[in-house]
Amino acid sequence: MENLHPKNDSNAIYSKKFEGLGFTTRAIHVGQQPEPVHGGVSTSIELSTTHAQTYPGVPYGKYDYSRAGNPTRTSLELQVASLENTKFAQIYSSGMAATSACISLLKVGDEVVCIDDVYGGTQRYFRLISAANQGVTYKFAAIDKPEVLKNSLSEKTKMVWIETPTNPTLRVTDLRESVKIVKSYNKDILIVVDNTFLSPFNCNPIDYGVDIVLNSGSKYLGGHSDIIMGTLCTNCPKLNDKLYFILKCVGAVSSPFDCYLMIRGIKTLSIRMQRINENALAVAEFLTKHKNVSKVCYPGLKTDPNYSIQKTQLREAKGVGFGGVVSFYIKGEKEETCNFLTHLKVWTLAESLGAVESLVNHPAFMTHTSIQPEIRKQLGITDNFVRLSAGIEDVQDLLADLDQALNNMNKQKAKF
Ligand SMILES: *Cc1c(COP(=O)(O)O)cnc(C)c1O
Repeated sequence: MENLHPKNDSNAIYSKKFEGLGFTTRAIHVGQQPEPVHGGVSTSIELSTTHAQTYPGVPYGKYDYSRAGNPTRTSLELQVASLENTKFAQIYSSGMAATSACISLLKVGDEVVCIDDVYGGTQRYFRLISAANQGVTYKFAAIDKPEVLKNSLSEKTKMVWIETPTNPTLRVTDLRESVKIVKSYNKDILIVVDNTFLSPFNCNPIDYGVDIVLNSGSKYLGGHSDIIMGTLCTNCPKLNDKLYFILKCVGAVSSPFDCYLMIRGIKTLSIRMQRINENALAVAEFLTKHKNVSKVCYPGLKTDPNYSIQKTQLREAKGVGFGGVVSFYIKGEKEETCNFLTHLKVWTLAESLGAVESLVNHPAFMTHTSIQPEIRKQLGITDNFVRLSAGIEDVQDLLADLDQALNNMNKQKAKF
């Protein structure tokens, strides 16, 4: 298929001079060509939905209609592709829109082999829309175990869906091993990795030979809990053309203003992630020692079963770490857990993750309620299970707050 993507050539050419430079330098400069008329160094928000043509069918510049392409979005595509170490990126209106674009590559009867502990929204879309109404079949399995992955593949398998670490129990998949297993079985099976939990700062899954890297930009990329967005990155021109065609046809595009906010957020991704990695590790170590905590899940703990694999698939750069999500089990039941949650002052009880402010979530009652109770139990999402997303606040305040709330977990607090 012809590459329909309206490339902003001058911006792409401008960006070439940053190739091979450091992650943070690229985050700040790639795709951010100074505005051509006045030289503004901050990328403009191009609001026009339509662009003038000089002759029927001959646009004035590179763009005709904003669903098909927009200069602010192009800047963001170049920036995101550079950070995921890929040739191409497509920007969608949410992580779920990006997910559904991947599934739109498939036909009736095709099968997706998917990690069992996949993000709740992904699971809901796969089970209740794609499988229920559209005839794609799904096999959910613990494919973080190589032998389970091997046994799950069949002639029908067209896509393997990996999320690593998983949400919320933080199981890690060995990407090198998984790519070897899948591609030696059938090289045409597409491997998608949801990289939301680590962000491109900590890990670039494309380096291990996967086909598509997905990020929910709503989390670390945006980083301020104020944008819903999704990204898909690939090195394959054909796949990129197909994903662009789906984006343009379905129309799940991001607004120019959201693209601008995302560009701005990404410029500080490195320094936010460094601090988040540090804070999360300190939180995980603190919880391991607390008398009211029975178990901590964090791949950054040397005692965690996922540590040794995760360590080998992090990017090699200063400040890189294991991400900001830490999950743990309270020594207690539902009541003690809810008391703990309501006693917190600095940590905000809210869904989502990946922003500057620290958030706490009760998966069984919040993010994972749509998953059947027996599946939740099987995955370890019990009533005493808590998921934290460390922000960039002063770490002593985060630890002190967790400490007082854990020590008060036997006292009920009035609902407000
Ligand atoms: C939030 C999230 C998504 C969905 O992204 P939205 O932007 O909310 O649509 C997908 N995968 C993971 C791991 C997420 O955390």
